[in-house]
Amino acid sequence: MTTGGHACHPSDFISAVRQMLRCRLNQDLSPKQTYYLLSLGCTKNLVDSESMSQILLERGFRSVDQPEQARFLVVNTCGFIQSAKEEAIAAILDLAEYKKAEEQTRFLIVAGCLPQRYARDILSSMPEVDAVIGTADYVRIADVFSSLQAYGRWDQLPGQAGSIEHLMINRKPSTSPAHAYIKIAEGCSNRCAYCAIPGIRGPYRSRPLEDLVNEAEALSRQGYDELILIAQDTTRYGLDLDGRLRLPDLLRAICALPQVRLVRILYVYADTMTDELIDLMRDEPKIARYLDLPIQHASDRMLGLMNRRDTATSLKALIERLRQTLPGLILRSTVMVGFPGETADDFRQLMKFLKEIRFDRLGCFIFSPEEGTPAYTMRPRVRRQTAENRYHAVMQLQKDLSRQSNLARVGQIVDVTLESTDQDGIFYVGRSYGEAPDVDPVIYVAARAYGLQIGQTIPVRLVDAGDYDLTGVTLDESSE
Ligand code: SF4
Repeated sequence: MTTGGHACHPSDFISAVRQMLRCRLNQDLSPKQTYYLLSLGCTKNLVDSESMSQILLERGFRSVDQPEQARFLVVNTCGFIQSAKEEAIAAILDLAEYKKAEEQTRFLIVAGCLPQRYARDILSSMPEVDAVIGTADYVRIADVFSSLQAYGRWDQLPGQAGSIEHLMINRKPSTSPAHAYIKIAEGCSNRCAYCAIPGIRGPYRSRPLEDLVNEAEALSRQGYDELILIAQDTTRYGLDLDGRLRLPDLLRAICALPQVRLVRILYVYADTMTDELIDLMRDEPKIARYLDLPIQHASDRMLGLMNRRDTATSLKALIERLRQTLPGLILRSTVMVGFPGETADDFRQLMKFLKEIRFDRLGCFIFSPEEGTPAYTMRPRVRRQTAENRYHAVMQLQKDLSRQSNLARVGQIVDVTLESTDQDGIFYVGRSYGEAPDVDPVIYVAARAYGLQIGQTIPVRLVDAGDYDLTGVTLDESSE
């Protein structure tokens, strides 16, 4: 056989034809380089999803809003408690439906916490799933796509949790035009007895300070002027870098950036709330007087069993100091009911503490026994019905406390960032320093001037309060 007068071995010809076909296939598929990504769970997972999107964008893949338009279907899962696992499995099976019509050309990928814990189970019990990637492998998402595209398979299982490589890229946030999350660390080295996260995410690893400041600068230049610092435990930041708690250093550096308007700190741990940090929050106007301080319980016996480092007395002293030093502070917390061994008396102590402390916002979880955690084998377990009754009692109490907290703010003038309009287009919907996105209530703003821009921050007088949301008016309206 000759080609162009040159002798050619048949195998060369075959591989040339294969190559040509592959190129044509790729060209044909290029319009199908599309993916649909569903991000479940918390904001830390959301940042991982945003990083994956950026990696995919840089490798030529395009995101679409509807699963039926996508060649690749990705679910970034949460899997730290039972309800999160159930939600993730329902979402996977839901997306699997979209594969049915195009079994050969559409791929389903499960990412994040759930496969980090249960990769083999997922692959064996859900054959629709084509690939899994764990929390350390986000950075390989485009390789997974390419492998599926070329060979129809990706055989690797999640690696050891521990990589923060995927966080080191400039990503485009998927949040409102005004706020963005910055994940300052990955993993957790606290060993709360009920928590599977250290196993899923590995030990605490702080990102380098310069890297975080660069990210903050890039985001603020793009107009994201509220930056929200997140990690499993933000106050531990820096300890693994050079043995010092460096959240204050990080905050100072970020606040020095001219385009940053507000910095919010979420998920602080009480015993690493240092005087330096509290004083900085007092002196630096760009730091929101808002804290999310999960306490989990207020009975010393339960705190001990949970392997938390606080006591009811130390928590109370800290909260009193915070409120004295930071007038206007909005305090959010989380508690857990139904932990093994929780008695009626432990629960009474928790309720008494909540009534006394009066958190402005509070979330409540029912204990979920997670394999691999010390609490999994702890006994006696609390009956499900009892735990549910306790959960409802906490939430009922908090409903009243939140309303009272809101009512106490009526009459105040606060800067509100407008993030959307309500369904009827009557109110703008926004947040002040006192409302974190995604978890807190919102402020409905009535404005006479309807030309206000989404993303704009304006002074608003709070005029009414419900159980959760607040209502305000723009100042020209309120002066009438
Ligand atoms: S601080 Fe405790 S509850 Fe929070 S992630 Fe770490 S181990 Fe889990």
